Amino acid sequence: LSHDEMKSYGYEVVDAIVDHFSTQNQKLPVVSGTRGEMEKLFLEEAPENASDPKKVLNFVLDEVMTKSNIVSHPKSYSFVPGPSNYISAMADSLTAGFNIFSGGWQASPAAAEMEIVTMNWLLKMFGFPQKKGGGIFTSGGSMANLTALVTARTVKCGDDFSKAIIYLSDQAHSSNIKAIRVLGFSKEQIRIIPTDGEFKFSLNKLKNAIAKDRLEGLQPFCLIATAGTTNTGTVDPLSDIAKICKKEDIWFHIDGAYGGFAILSEDGKQLMKGIEKADSLTIDPHKWFFQPYEIGCLLVKKHKWLKGTFTEKPEYLRDIEGNESEINFYDHGIELTRRFRALKFYMSVKTFGLGEFRKAITYNVKLAEATESFLRKSSNWEVISPATLAVINFRYNPIGNKLSEKQLDALNQRISQNVVDSKKALLVTTVLNRQIVLRMCLINPRTTLDDVKETIALCESFANEKVLA
Ligand code: PLP
Repeated sequence: LSHDEMKSYGYEVVDAIVDHFSTQNQKLPVVSGTRGEMEKLFLEEAPENASDPKKVLNFVLDEVMTKSNIVSHPKSYSFVPGPSNYISAMADSLTAGFNIFSGGWQASPAAAEMEIVTMNWLLKMFGFPQKKGGGIFTSGGSMANLTALVTARTVKCGDDFSKAIIYLSDQAHSSNIKAIRVLGFSKEQIRIIPTDGEFKFSLNKLKNAIAKDRLEGLQPFCLIATAGTTNTGTVDPLSDIAKICKKEDIWFHIDGAYGGFAILSEDGKQLMKGIEKADSLTIDPHKWFFQPYEIGCLLVKKHKWLKGTFTEKPEYLRDIEGNESEINFYDHGIELTRRFRALKFYMSVKTFGLGEFRKAITYNVKLAEATESFLRKSSNWEVISPATLAVINFRYNPIGNKLSEKQLDALNQRISQNVVDSKKALLVTTVLNRQIVLRMCLINPRTTLDDVKETIALCESFANEKVLA
């Protein structure tokens, strides 16, 4: 492409992104498409001959970009939404455009320094030691959890982990189980501890499990607590767990992928007490820090743990090793070639200031509380788990109805299905205490209480249809 062709192509891309940001609230958040429909549109042999670049672009804008759920839509409530921001999206375009290798110092000292600087911001935010502590940006929370557990295993067990036991609650995120499997632990080495009535790690059951394992000559080595469970937003009793881990010499990992950034709000800060006591902490800026995918992060109490776990010295990298102070992030994690994730984090914090992030997160926490009050005022709805870190679970259960638990489950499942089929909101179910419930995760600063009320009204319209049917 010529200079002018590249420019005009690029302008069209930017125009499309800007249009998306300014019109997404008016679009429908949900799409659907069967395999057959998608194949009809896209399936072809790799073309041997060139095509007109604008034609390809227009086809992509019309047919590809329109066929994904809009995860930053105000009525996208499910899973963990992705309310991205424009500055970071542009930062990602820059990193791809300049194709910056963010693996080693010498290839890009500025990228490495920027990761050091932003990591220091994060270490400070979470009360981790700034000099001794360290961290790394990863593709997401799953990779951060995996990176944490490899490190924990190396530091605590060395090469022999045959007797090592790992503890997590029944509300821990599935990525932790995946990571444990990747690391080669057997099922017998995992203890899934039941949670209490508030979906928190049950401390007595945990202590009993550890004591039993010790008696059997096993090696309790790692515990995974959650700061903001995916289901209910619950924060485990972090300070109490920290004490147990210290006493038992167990690695304390906290998965704060979903909820960690709540620490920026006053309410969240109270709940997060003890987070600074972790040996390692997963946080996920592409969740509640409004970054586009992919950016997760792992923080550790001592940066030397990462280096000790991941450093390899192949002959083809010897010329770019550099000196001690020049950090090669490929020595701090799994990836060698890595994209420049720190840039979007840096540019968005510089542009908006941490204060704006604090405001947005505080707004989300209050919005979830307002949603809870709204539901509690209605005789149609039952709150199953209260608003916690912007997550709330509820079900349609009008006072005085004669429906059995099974019928209520079916009704709530159908409400969710009808809402999703209408494409007007993304609101799916989860299961709590064996009940099917609707789950809202309200981490989008663009969502208003009116959006929520409209969605509840939509649910009620479907519920009434079904009750009357
Ligand atoms: N941990 C928790 C608590 C999560 O909620 C999630 C995702 O929802 C993850 C880990 C996985 O993060 P990612 O999807 O970024 O890999």
